[in-house]
Amino acid sequence: MEAKGYMDAGKLVPDQLVIGLIKEKLDGLKGGFLLDGFPRNLEQAKMLDTITEVNMAVELDVDEDMIVDRIVKRRSCRQCGEVYHLDAKPPRTPDVCDKCGGELYQRSDDSEETVRNRLKVYHEKTQPLIDLYGERGILITIDGRGSIDDVYRRMVDAIRGFKK
Ligand SMILES: [Zn+2]
Repeated sequence: MEAKGYMDAGKLVPDQLVIGLIKEKLDGLKGGFLLDGFPRNLEQAKMLDTITEVNMAVELDVDEDMIVDRIVKRRSCRQCGEVYHLDAKPPRTPDVCDKCGGELYQRSDDSEETVRNRLKVYHEKTQPLIDLYGERGILITIDGRGSIDDVYRRMVDAIRGFKK
């Protein structure tokens, strides 16, 4: 609820709060887990090190114009959250979810301008993590071009084949 307060106000949730939420989740888990989109900066990476051991980091390598294309043409279902892409994974009926019949919409932050801004932040804040995990010898870089199935398959193979 505390995090929601920040998000509703359009603010970033403070690192300390995010790490607290992650710790709460991990404490009850048995076996492995995968964090998607976290950590996003060196401060978060340091905090993550204090609550768990990071065994592997996966980098999806895609050129910027392709990232923009993917995000600008992304549509999500209001009801079930299923994600579509107008070219790569179009719904059978325009603007209608194949799974539940819900209405598809474009997230307000999925515009080209916002994406270019996010990429700038990525280069400044997140890219240093590539060096950090690279130096630790736990970084896997996966070619993110191609279809959803292609990339998924590459990712699963890389994770299965990875031995620290
Ligand atoms: Zn749906």
